[in-house]
Amino acid sequence: MYETNLDIIAAEAVLKEEENDHFLQFVKRQDSVITDQLAHETNDKVSAAIDCTQCGNCCKTLVINVTDEEVVQLGEDLHLPQAEIQERYIETSLAGKHFINTVPCAFLANSICTIYPYRFTECRDFPHLHKSGFKERLLGTLLHYGRCPIIYNVVEEMKSSLHFKETIA
Ligand code: SF4
Ligand code: SF4
Repeated sequence: MYETNLDIIAAEAVLKEEENDHFLQFVKRQDSVITDQLAHETNDKVSAAIDCTQCGNCCKTLVINVTDEEVVQLGEDLHLPQAEIQERYIETSLAGKHFINTVPCAFLANSICTIYPYRFTECRDFPHLHKSGFKERLLGTLLHYGRCPIIYNVVEEMKSSLHFKETIA
């Protein structure tokens, strides 16, 4: 029922770039309470129907930021000393920000997260559609439209629910 083919979704992102720019402007004119409610309802439905373990595209293509606390926790969870955790898995910027040092993520194996019970906050939160502020975050959301089947299907369903297409016909 929902499109999950990553090649098709990536191609759609190119084809619909201009349409999505219009959708961004259209959503800016909508009521935040309504767009948040609709985004949450649509996300609940789409997320329940899409199996992330069959996709893993965010884990394969995004740089994952991790906090100081998560680096420490990772060492405890993997029963490894901090020095080894840092060397094997973590890159730290000059500004002191940590991120996983490989893309795809080092903890992904056969599209499955090998540390799923203690995966990082950024992993749990992506694609952020359960949060409030859909309207304000739509630009960032659309950056991942061609990468994430949940985002693609939520955005497409919201275009229909908000009768967006009629406004550009
Ligand atoms: S830690 Fe797990 S959920 Fe997070 S990016 Fe890596 S494989 Fe994906
Ligand atoms: S959040 Fe999106 S990109 Fe990540 S695994 Fe789920 S459907 Fe795929």
